[in-house]
Amino acid sequence: MPTVREMFFNLMGAAKDSYDMGVKMGIVLADAETSTKRIDTCLACPHFITEPGPARCGICGCGMKVKVRLAAARCADNPPRWKAMSAQEIEEMKAKNKLPL
Ligand code: SF4
Repeated sequence: MPTVREMFFNLMGAAKDSYDMGVKMGIVLADAETSTKRIDTCLACPHFITEPGPARCGICGCGMKVKVRLAAARCADNPPRWKAMSAQEIEEMKAKNKLPL
């Protein structure tokens, strides 16, 4: 598990990425299909931890219930097991009117 300081900076990085994507693309949240694929990947990942406290990534320390819903979020592993939504994926999501609430 990362230190509290590292988790803070990881959280701030994710918040900044989400803010930037919101400004650039007008989207902050991923659609349900993307979020479900991501959490399924995390559930099968050896870094996924459930103790102590809520379900977290053992690399970045982020709570995964929230992180998988952010369109700009990406897996903390190297190489990443899942990536931020691309501009094309976001445009497709908008076109299909699959906008998250
Ligand atoms: S974010 Fe990546 S490394 Fe962390 S639990 Fe999910 S799949 Fe595993």
